[in-house]
Amino acid sequence: ARTAALEESTGPGATKDGHAVPLLANVGGPKDVEAALANGAEGVGLYRTEFLFLDRSTPPTEDEQVEAYRTVLEAFPKGRVVVRTLDAGADKPLAFLPPPGEEPNPALGERGLRMMRRHPDVLTAQLGALARAAAGLSTTLQVMAPMVTDAAEAAFFAAACRDAGIAHPGVMIEVPAAALRARDLASEVGFFSLGTNDLTQYACAADRQVGGLAALQDPWQPAILDLVAPAAAAGIPCGVCGEAAGDPALACVLVGLGVTSLSMSAPSLPLVRAALARHTLDECRRAAAAARAARTASDARDAARAHLPELE
Ligand code: PEP
Ligand code: MG
Repeated sequence: ARTAALEESTGPGATKDGHAVPLLANVGGPKDVEAALANGAEGVGLYRTEFLFLDRSTPPTEDEQVEAYRTVLEAFPKGRVVVRTLDAGADKPLAFLPPPGEEPNPALGERGLRMMRRHPDVLTAQLGALARAAAGLSTTLQVMAPMVTDAAEAAFFAAACRDAGIAHPGVMIEVPAAALRARDLASEVGFFSLGTNDLTQYACAADRQVGGLAALQDPWQPAILDLVAPAAAAGIPCGVCGEAAGDPALACVLVGLGVTSLSMSAPSLPLVRAALARHTLDECRRAAAAARAARTASDARDAARAHLPELE
């Protein structure tokens, strides 16, 4: 029993019946690696590279970038590191990349990949630094673009990655249009990562920076589960890297919807690992079906929990 308990608290992510669900960490740079390792992360599912670019008037040099990326990659020699290209704009403004003009609604403006298409030199430098950082390492480097809306944008990003020698391009699914047409995007890239924070913001039209709208910024909204489902069923690996992945009950529901990996802030890993280890894939599927059949976020939460008896 002791070994089982230890396995439950540190081993790789899996359901009770052995369905593997890699548990990964969200990091902002080398400073977060220690906590990720301490909590048993099997890799990094979201490396938010903005932090390297914050509070400066010029972008970091390619060498500076290589060093930061390599430190994180080296920490997971048997795992994967999913790096997100620069997500500038909206809630992540960067001094050296101001929006091109007045933006009355920055969350709907030039941000993420949209900004990189205006500044292809910045994207090329980042992809080049990533390819250099991964050279000679055993870690699997995956690179994904934020704020992708349609298949044309996914194709643009995949081509940019190919040109830079990056073998595993993917896209974040955080715009409802991309979730609804996930199959189209899946023919352009190798993996998805669902950004439930932005997906919820956009699907519920509730600004994530407005605290008073927290009830609508709730990934338990059945509409969000309806958007996760087509992305998870599009035929390519589909992780979740938004806050939703760190909620033990919702993590089980996401796995029940077909999500293949979960990435979260490191302190959330042990409880999610335990929740998965105590429920079968079938229980997760039943919890997911019950949550989707509910009509409100709180009903969805209650309905799911009724199928997940071993939650703490
Ligand atoms: C998200 O949108 O869910 C996400 C993971 O990215 P961020 O919170 O950095 O926008
Ligand atoms: Mg996002």
